[in-house]
Amino acid sequence: MKLVVLGAAGRMGRTLVKVIAETQGATLHAAIERDGSPALGSDAGLMAGIGENGVTIGSDIDAAIDGADGIIDFTAPAVSVEMARHAADKGLVHVVGTTGFEAQDDDAIGNAANSGATIVKSGNMSLGVNLLAVLVEQAARALGPDAFDIEVLEMHHKHKVDAPSGTALLLGEAAAKGRGIALSDHAVRVRDGITGPREEGTIGFATLRGGSVVGEHSVILAGEGERIELSHLAGDRAIFARGAVRAALWAKDKPAGLYSMRDVLGLNA
Ligand code: NAP
Repeated sequence: MKLVVLGAAGRMGRTLVKVIAETQGATLHAAIERDGSPALGSDAGLMAGIGENGVTIGSDIDAAIDGADGIIDFTAPAVSVEMARHAADKGLVHVVGTTGFEAQDDDAIGNAANSGATIVKSGNMSLGVNLLAVLVEQAARALGPDAFDIEVLEMHHKHKVDAPSGTALLLGEAAAKGRGIALSDHAVRVRDGITGPREEGTIGFATLRGGSVVGEHSVILAGEGERIELSHLAGDRAIFARGAVRAALWAKDKPAGLYSMRDVLGLNA
């Protein structure tokens, strides 16, 4: 499968170039960065630390996707929305790992999936976090809001620009699904000052940032006299890149539409 890596000089982009080189059935077709990026003209393999691979980082999207089967995109929300339109026009696979979308961005990506793109989108592409989400959904279903309060705690490196993380929101969605409620109506994303007591049935988020932490998430179900914690610790970005490449290979023969990592991993049954 011929893949285009968007944001090829970024933390995830460089990891993707490396993982694609290690994956049977996947080849790097093109590597893209934004106009004006200092990485333009560099060899994508050298940038990824795997030695020269002959793929020069460019910024021409149309040239990059010509002859490609799919795009892997860990960039920024506006870039991914634009890319989804390109994927719809060309009938391509688009794996979206970017986080920090607003509701209208999600709508635009959904529209692209209804117009010819095969999109796999997930706030976390790792097997472990997607399995954790299944466990969180089950726990939230079993432990009702009258007895257990749900809080999602996350920590990431100091360069991360969005909060709560896409993974924290994915886990919050899983908890809300387990409880049969909409996260948007019950999320408490920030607390500051005299907040008053905790409102029953809410799902709280707490965000920590610092150092080089790749990603740590805990979902805490706190009851009277007992507490359950379900956690995932990411030690290496390669888990997300491997998941994204697996998603691209899985999506290759699927009809256009919007899929999640749970679909890819068969965790929806
Ligand atoms: P990063 O190091 O900042 O990488 C993003 C790259 O995209 C940068 O090189 C950036 O270039 C580039 N870019 C910006 N605009 C572009 C454009 N128009 N065309 C092509 N490339 C463009 O960030 P990261 O840590 O790799 O994370 C990227 C995204 O993935 C974030 O939203 C993060 O939360 C998410 N993420 C998701 C998962 C998951 O499993 N779903 C895992 C890890 C990270 P400039 O720096 O020059 O702007």
